[in-house]
Amino acid sequence: MKIREFVPLAGYTSYGIGGPARYFCEPSNPKEIKSALSFALKRNIPYYVLGRGTNVLISDAGLAGMVIHLGEKFARLKVAGHLVTAEGGLPLTKLIHTLAEKNLGGFEALAGIPGTIAGAVVMNAGAYRVFIGDFINGLDVLTPTGQFKTMPRDKLGFAYRTSIFQTQSHHKYIILRTHLRVLARPKAEIKETIAVSLKKRRQHPQLPSCGSTFRNPVGIPAGKLIDEMGLKGTRRGQAQIAPQHGNFIVNLGGATAQDVYGLIRFVQDKVWEERGIALKTEVKLWGEFENPPK
Ligand SMILES: Cc1cc2nc3c(=O)[nH]c(=O)nc-3n(C[C@H](O)[C@H](O)[C@H](O)COP(=O)(O)OP(=O)(O)OC[C@H]3O[C@@H](n4cnc5c(N)ncnc54)[C@H](O)[C@@H]3O)c2cc1C
Repeated sequence: MKIREFVPLAGYTSYGIGGPARYFCEPSNPKEIKSALSFALKRNIPYYVLGRGTNVLISDAGLAGMVIHLGEKFARLKVAGHLVTAEGGLPLTKLIHTLAEKNLGGFEALAGIPGTIAGAVVMNAGAYRVFIGDFINGLDVLTPTGQFKTMPRDKLGFAYRTSIFQTQSHHKYIILRTHLRVLARPKAEIKETIAVSLKKRRQHPQLPSCGSTFRNPVGIPAGKLIDEMGLKGTRRGQAQIAPQHGNFIVNLGGATAQDVYGLIRFVQDKVWEERGIALKTEVKLWGEFENPPK
């Protein structure tokens, strides 16, 4: 496996934003992932696992460590009855469509979420009251020291937009394979649900974004809160709080990570000052930004 240097990351994210990775690789099997881990360990540099980059904001200065990109090269799928094994880099939407052809499903409401199955597990991605975590039986992972481990579902800590992989103890684990239990469902019904979900998504802002920027605080959706405060349409450079949806920050073309981050901090400060609510980001911030929280 080739380890490349100073690889621009913008093209690997849905925002189209991000400076270079000092080191970058695209493993196609667990052995290559292990060798990427030991490369990082030997040099004492951090590593980042990147799926389709649809929930990350990468700083303009880039990342001083190793980016391990798990994408198309790591996307095999096995179906045995209702039990499905999908490698971490498989796109979620592709999984939904492939299963539909076999009259299998259950989470087709998530069609159109643009990430990988592993990214979806880390985030416990959800839409229209359906959550991927509800279909996960267990996972095969690599620990930061390169040990293989199987984790059953009761150890995965799924809750609203979170999993154990967002905690300090597990955020450096790498998801190799996901084991799912899916439901028998007629293809036509699944396709109908997919069509409904995709239609709703067409009403979302279509410019580059990471989807929802903030987690919903208790009691009110973040988008509604931002809307009520009259913040929609606010700009920083080429980044804008989408006029159609308060929780989307879009790239109007040529936005920097700092433009997006500036808007994130602006919204957080305003919401805190005026409503006493501490808005937390759903998007993951990688690298260094100016004006971090005090
Ligand atoms: C237009 C748009 C609409 C969206 N709509 C929704 C929605 O309706 N619901 C929703 O929940 N989300 C939504 N999202 C957000 C995003 O698509 C999901 O969070 C998605 O699951 C992220 O997957 P990814 O592969 O892009 O992960 P990335 O953005 O690449 O990574 C996200 C996190 O997962 C970690 N990660 C990725 N792969 C692995 C792995 N193999 N092992 C360990 N960690 C890993 C990364 O390190 C990072 O912490 C939307 C995004 C966009 C751009």
